[in-house]
Amino acid sequence: MIVLKSHEEIELMAKAASVTAAMLEEIPNILMPGMTTLELDHWCEDYILRHGMKPAFKGYGGFPGTACISVNEEVVHGIPTKRRVLNEGDIVSVDLGTIYKGFYSDAARTYPVGKVSEEAQKLMDVAEGSFFEGLKFCKKGHRLGDVSHAIQTYVEANGFSVIRDYVGHGVGRELHEDPQIPNYGKANHGPQLVPGMVIAVEPMIAAGEYDVEVLSNGWTAVTLDRSWAAHYENTIVITEDEPRLLTKL
Ligand code: MG
Repeated sequence: MIVLKSHEEIELMAKAASVTAAMLEEIPNILMPGMTTLELDHWCEDYILRHGMKPAFKGYGGFPGTACISVNEEVVHGIPTKRRVLNEGDIVSVDLGTIYKGFYSDAARTYPVGKVSEEAQKLMDVAEGSFFEGLKFCKKGHRLGDVSHAIQTYVEANGFSVIRDYVGHGVGRELHEDPQIPNYGKANHGPQLVPGMVIAVEPMIAAGEYDVEVLSNGWTAVTLDRSWAAHYENTIVITEDEPRLLTKL
């Protein structure tokens, strides 16, 4: 069941999301080679707490971190650890959210660590670009399949693949609500988009094949072929006209 949000609820979500948005903008300023993913996670947790919010992921399903921090061939759900040092040339995906008065925000970005290869930069650019292709259809009168199809078409036209095993979702009083939003699919299929829907659209793409496996820690998903992956996500409100991006400044 898709739960529509009232104006008041959307403003609470916007407040939660404003901290997520500002934090994601700040990360490039503190990210540097030599940092561990645990140090990055602690910085995120401190940022959220300092701004009067709660981290949305910490403890969710037993997840130990504030952020899912996934490096290179890791697609999503990377566990922050002091053993993983970020090196020059790596790409690092940071997926996190905040809770304010019971409402969630959810967003992700992939960042370069120092100078990265042209291929890695293109992978990040296409992940971000595919989100904005999907966003064009996040409007009243379109269906979810239009969003999925636009993302897939753009990613594949750029020579990359769309991860199948992880999808976007509704967001609100729960981190993961209906509907599921695959990053591949058929135009003119799926639920209609209506004002008051709040959704997290989150393309995850790989430079190689889209198959993934989960590592023995039970969380971290990596590409089966160990090609690199990138992730880009925002929390979006469907309105009477243009979509409202809550997690982007
Ligand atoms: Mg999400």
